[in-house]
Amino acid sequence: RATRGGEEVRGYVPSMGQIFMRRFQLVTQFRQSLEDGQVSVHYQPKVSLPGRQVQGVEALVRWQHPEFGKLDPDEFVPAVEAAGLIGALTEFVLEQSLRRVRKWLDEGLRISAAVNLSVRNLADADFPAKVVAALNRFDVPAKLLTFELTESGVMADPQRALPILRELHELGIVLAVDDFGTGYSSLAYLRQLPVDQVKIDKSFVLGMGTDLGDLAVVRSIVELGHSLGLTVVAEGVEEDVARDQLEAMGCDVAQGYLISRPLSEERLEAWLQARTTR
Ligand code: C2E
Ligand code: CA
Ligand code: CA
Ligand code: CA
Repeated sequence: RATRGGEEVRGYVPSMGQIFMRRFQLVTQFRQSLEDGQVSVHYQPKVSLPGRQVQGVEALVRWQHPEFGKLDPDEFVPAVEAAGLIGALTEFVLEQSLRRVRKWLDEGLRISAAVNLSVRNLADADFPAKVVAALNRFDVPAKLLTFELTESGVMADPQRALPILRELHELGIVLAVDDFGTGYSSLAYLRQLPVDQVKIDKSFVLGMGTDLGDLAVVRSIVELGHSLGLTVVAEGVEEDVARDQLEAMGCDVAQGYLISRPLSEERLEAWLQARTTR
């Protein structure tokens, strides 16, 4: 692939025109790709600490493009957002996730699903009604659904976002602040948001083994979160040591490659099976 988060892959530097053309192609093809089954949802398990029971999964979108191959959400989600198509993407991910939660309920498992929201979802006054309709359609209780939102997303237009967040929260949906620690106003605004969870950004969790500053940030987020009565989730847990340190700090939930990479629905089923029969 040509670019990844702005860094160039050696040997091939695409021109601005090529980047623009590819983005254009992606957004014009997106709706059809949903129908053609090119877009799918992968799920990454989250486990409780210290018990290590599977507590939920995060839904992460994937696009198997016929020409460009497997695309990262970092490449196409911003383009889809900018083109005003995020509603369709979120509804797709939400439906897939609730269908999966329903199957687990039928098997006697209570596993929640976390769906990432975009700032544009929070500008759609009809969004809560769509969510209620989806919960009803799959007969899933609201507390088994989590929405992850970034602070910058909420703060882009708080007048619009806050009433929608309150409505979602009153329905019983769990709200989590994603990538926590990377914003500028984190601490001041956290108290004003109707949230239940903070997710410590993976950059701090990845760095905590070698960087005392990162370790201090992680520790203070755990303390702050708990003092506000929030559940604290750490993402980017790749090493045993990190998990052990997080556990010792009292962090509630861990997510990361150490536990599992994001998996297709089929592979997740096998993973869950292997865990419960061990
Ligand atoms: P995010 O919400 O912060 O998701 C976590 C990202 O960290 C995922 O990348 C996941 O694969 C990756 N990750 C998980 N564990 C580890 C680990 O131990 N180490 C490292 N280095 N990385 C880990 P992914 O799937 O590429 O998603 C990237 C971003 O794309 C997400 O960041 C989210 O902002 C966005 N995204 C993904 N799916 C959706 C979606 O359905 N809707 C929206 N609006 N955004 C989405
Ligand atoms: Ca997330
Ligand atoms: Ca995150
Ligand atoms: Ca992110």
